[in-house]
Amino acid sequence: PLPLDVEAIRADFPILTRTVRDGKRLVYLDSGATSQKPRQVLDAERWFYENINAAPHRGAHQLAEEATGAYEEARRTIGAFIGAPENEIVFTRNTTEAINLVAYAMSNAGTAKEPEFRTYAVGQGDEIVVTEMEHHADLIPWQQLCERTGATLRWLGLTDGGRLDLSDLDTVVNERTKLVAVTQQSNILGTINPLEELVARAHAVGALVLVDGAQSVPHQPVDVTALGADFLVFSGHKMLGPTGVGVLWGRYDVLDKLPPFLTGGSMIEVVRMEGSTFMPPPQRFEAGVPMTAQVIGLGAAVDYLQALGMDKVEEHEKALTGYALEKLAEIPGVTVIGPADTVARGGAISFTVEGVHPHDVGQVLDDLGIAVRVGHHCAWPVVRRYGVPATTRATFYVHTGYDDVDALADGIRAAQKFFGTV
Ligand code: PMP
Repeated sequence: PLPLDVEAIRADFPILTRTVRDGKRLVYLDSGATSQKPRQVLDAERWFYENINAAPHRGAHQLAEEATGAYEEARRTIGAFIGAPENEIVFTRNTTEAINLVAYAMSNAGTAKEPEFRTYAVGQGDEIVVTEMEHHADLIPWQQLCERTGATLRWLGLTDGGRLDLSDLDTVVNERTKLVAVTQQSNILGTINPLEELVARAHAVGALVLVDGAQSVPHQPVDVTALGADFLVFSGHKMLGPTGVGVLWGRYDVLDKLPPFLTGGSMIEVVRMEGSTFMPPPQRFEAGVPMTAQVIGLGAAVDYLQALGMDKVEEHEKALTGYALEKLAEIPGVTVIGPADTVARGGAISFTVEGVHPHDVGQVLDDLGIAVRVGHHCAWPVVRRYGVPATTRATFYVHTGYDDVDALADGIRAAQKFFGTV
């Protein structure tokens, strides 16, 4: 049996009761793109709008006070989930915006009036390090930062087996490095990266470390103290929460020395026509009326995950991943791109089917009610590295069972039959 009670969990997800493609059960294997939402999350958002809807941190009325209370309580819940105090949690729109926030704060640092805001300025001669397996969200903002500042982008490559190639770590990460940005779990290969080694090297040369937790925080226990990095970013919509809310965790002493990214209401201390001063973190980075309902929904998602237990969630997905890797290995012509066993590997399984284009595989699966992702998965350099035009990707979550994996394997065989490759 699987570590989680799949039938009980499925009953919490209204969308799993619908059928697709003429009455077929929905086999949702695309949680890596976005996760489905349990009733508890949907109820929390509705409760907010029906009962306490108001702009937090504004207004002297009871609703505003209650909205502020619920918003800040969710901040504490979400902080505790990753072992962080509330003043280190900044709400953004998603992972993408959280990374852009850091990248823009670092380029804004170069022209900041306040000397302490110049601490992490980036300029010519400086280097930013990423890896070849980053999602575009953790690549393009750094390319752009380099274009704005004259800094140079460097990267760590990949091994044939789908892991980070750390053989040149000490030359790529060096005294010129200002920041290392790395994903904890690859969204396309499933690889879980050895962050201790990277963090140790980065800190030894005085560089900051940003960890992209978009695919790790939803699927394994993550504790920022154990992680040892300076920033951790993730998206609510990938962890059973609503769309429109993401999280930037930053070490307080680092956040405190960063200038703002977006400016406007809510983030100011004193405003004069001649110029203004800004609030301390996290308010400095939350300009405008926030996505209050979404934050409260994300708080409910965290409660839901915590009730299941993140250790169990991780074990559950490991069991499914092992089972899926075995099942796919039994099908001639199927090649998994990424680690072939479950050691330091999460549940994103990308594969190709000999003689059938990934989009055609996706199409056949869709006809059978099986939702997967096809394409380059916003990690174009990765598919290029492994010499494939695209892949088909299956991803798992708390409601996934062995029956879903069996459906996937049967669907792949059906695609092979349809295209006459077997
Ligand atoms: N990083 C990784 C590893 C991801 O998988 C994703 C989402 N596919 C992102 C970043 C970007 O997340 P979002 O689109 O929610 O900003």
